[in-house]
Amino acid sequence: MSEAECIFCLVIARKVDASIVYQDDRVTAFMDIQPLTEGHLLVVPNQHSPDLEGVSAETAGWMAEIGRKLGLAMLESDLGCKAFNLFLANGEEAGQTVFHSHLHVIPRYPNDGFGVRFPPGFGRKVSREELDRQAESIRVCLQV
Ligand code: AMP
Ligand code: ZN
Repeated sequence: MSEAECIFCLVIARKVDASIVYQDDRVTAFMDIQPLTEGHLLVVPNQHSPDLEGVSAETAGWMAEIGRKLGLAMLESDLGCKAFNLFLANGEEAGQTVFHSHLHVIPRYPNDGFGVRFPPGFGRKVSREELDRQAESIRVCLQV
């Protein structure tokens, strides 16, 4: 999808209707149009990238920091939320549907019905050998 067709690029450029909470030269935060809970918002990099691979370390860090600050602001606000989740779907299998990377900030209320579904078999103990093997396979690909 080109940037010209990307709905979040249009939001950032203020070419479509959006309720913008915060904007600076790196990121924009705006209310989610189909909120999971009341006050749900998104933090997006101003520069188009379908996923996190194309987001610079500085911008990714700033997305997280603005998400943190917005979550704390939600707790102070008159929304009445008691907690918040930060959530980022990177890729289709992770549940990403809009391919301009974005961080969800989701205010949480007692018994709000939102939750994470655990896969079948969740809870089984994994051997140290297997955990070490997984750790190594990630470590060899880590670029820091
Ligand atoms: P994800 O499934 O993680 O890709 O989330 C995409 C999110 O973008 C969903 O929560 C949508 O409701 C939200 N969304 C899609 N279009 C818009 C829009 N024009 N303004 C605000 N939020 C949007
Ligand atoms: Zn975009």
